Amino acid sequence: MTILIIEDEKKLSDILKKTLKGERYSVDTAYDGEEGLVKARKNTYELIILDIMLPKKDGVAVCKELRSSNIHTPIIMLTSNENTKDKINSLDVGADDCMIKPFDIQELFARIRAILRRRKTTDSDVWKIEDLVLDRIKHEVTRSGKYINLTPKEYKILNMLLTHKGEAISREKLIANVWTPEFKESNNELNVHIRYLRTKIDRKGDKPLVHTVRGVGFMMKD
Ligand code: CA
Repeated sequence: MTILIIEDEKKLSDILKKTLKGERYSVDTAYDGEEGLVKARKNTYELIILDIMLPKKDGVAVCKELRSSNIHTPIIMLTSNENTKDKINSLDVGADDCMIKPFDIQELFARIRAILRRRKTTDSDVWKIEDLVLDRIKHEVTRSGKYINLTPKEYKILNMLLTHKGEAISREKLIANVWTPEFKESNNELNVHIRYLRTKIDRKGDKPLVHTVRGVGFMMKD
């Protein structure tokens, strides 16, 4: 779990680094906007702490560039500006949070934890492919925002295919996951359920997402 700190005030950067390390995070640092941008593009971080007033390139520009190059690492901005303008700007360009200096370091940690928790939920509990979304918390499937009513077995099949999207999943694996192994008719049953699933999620005019992989099984891809 590595956090990147982009902050030109050496003293603040050092304190953040030291205390974050004490909380068992790994820390990388950058001291101007350009260096920060290069590092954020090159490496994978769990979170970025990004000061707004920075040499070479300001934090708002860095955040904007990261988001427009499809890097969605959570960002907490720091500002010395007491008025809310910086805060609004930061959130507008895609930052997740903004803290006004001087701040309580414990509050920063609480916000880091909250963002990482939120992120974890988003990554593992909502699966997307094209406009199809499976939400494991709500146990709900939608396509183009429209609710799709699935039977428990169809849901299980879809869940498995979606968890491994882009991979061919063998019939055996699907059957073992959805039915008990001793269920003899399961191969036929699987075909029936796949057919129903297709009529529900790949409707007329939709881009087909469930694909047959000959001799193997099925795959979901866009
Ligand atoms: Ca600064």
